[in-house]
Amino acid sequence: MIHDKTPIASAGTGLVDLFARPISYLRLSLTDRCNLRCRYCVTEEESNGCLTKLTHDELLSYEELLRVVRVAVGMGIAKVRLTGGEPLVRRNVMQFIRDLTRIKGLDDVRITTNGVLLERYGRELYEAGVTKVNISLDSFKPERVAAITGVDCFGQVWRGVETALALGFSPVKLNMVAMRHVNDDELTDFALLSRRLPVQVRFIEFMPIGESSRWNADTYIGTDEIMARIAALGELIPMEKGRSDGPAKVYRLGADAVGTLGFISPISHHFCSRCNRLRLTSSGGLRSCLLHDYEIDLRPVLRDGSDDEALRQALLAAIRNKPEGHHLDERLRRSGSDCHGRMSRIGG
Ligand code: SAM
Repeated sequence: MIHDKTPIASAGTGLVDLFARPISYLRLSLTDRCNLRCRYCVTEEESNGCLTKLTHDELLSYEELLRVVRVAVGMGIAKVRLTGGEPLVRRNVMQFIRDLTRIKGLDDVRITTNGVLLERYGRELYEAGVTKVNISLDSFKPERVAAITGVDCFGQVWRGVETALALGFSPVKLNMVAMRHVNDDELTDFALLSRRLPVQVRFIEFMPIGESSRWNADTYIGTDEIMARIAALGELIPMEKGRSDGPAKVYRLGADAVGTLGFISPISHHFCSRCNRLRLTSSGGLRSCLLHDYEIDLRPVLRDGSDDEALRQALLAAIRNKPEGHHLDERLRRSGSDCHGRMSRIGG
């Protein structure tokens, strides 16, 4: 899947890929480690403790990450999301984040977290300039959260949500991966939360990625069904897309709802034609698509004394090879499952 064409990408005027998509968003996985063992993210053996972790040397250092971001921002990347693994478990993460948010030209740094450490780090994050947060939460039932994540953490996560709201994070988005027979009986409870709290509740289609591959066609619920079930509660009013809505289709559940609902459909309604992302794994793999295995290893470029121009060329090569789209839905119809490396490594 290597396109051998000249990139339509240039410094100064921003980055555009071969399919005329502007590329302005970099997702940085800070670590492959996590304080949870979500069942859709890790295998059975891994949830029992046999998680292979990157060695110190394999992991990009903070200096290396900052260098990549500086070069990327110089080329037109305007938004960075920190993810993982769990970004907040990496040692000295707050100092890194302060250094990151000081990078000239980078005004939009966000974080996706499981929320467990948000009560502890919320204020520092906010003061460092990270004021937009996505918090993953798949259930309001403590025992169910424990069953899904392998850790009894609902209380901590919920205090994290409350901390973010009290500090004034905006937006606060709650990511709920919808899974039949796992948490679909809570779809309406999640939707109703948006009527009373200023959050965006986001329903994400369960993707068959991750070595765990506990995905099956029965567990997957498409956005159309999710929306139909929520629409039974009241009118779903379409909202104009905000800058921070990404691929979500956004609605309000009733005109007086304080928050909103976002529907993210990577499988049933591809958003590839609008995809503006690059991803950097914690070990330095530069990917232009979550669902393709093509990856450029930045570690040699970062460690062999090459200059920033070499790094720029590597970024351009990743953009040049960004696929037009993924065909997961077709592959799923054929084979029933698929797998593209652990989400915690790639950075979901
Ligand atoms: N640890 C952080 C967290 O929990 O938000 C960041 C990493 S986590 C991999 C990022 C997001 O990917 C979470 O919202 C998680 O629910 C989502 N995710 C992981 N595996 C998924 C899958 N198979 N399908 C859909 N979403 C998935």
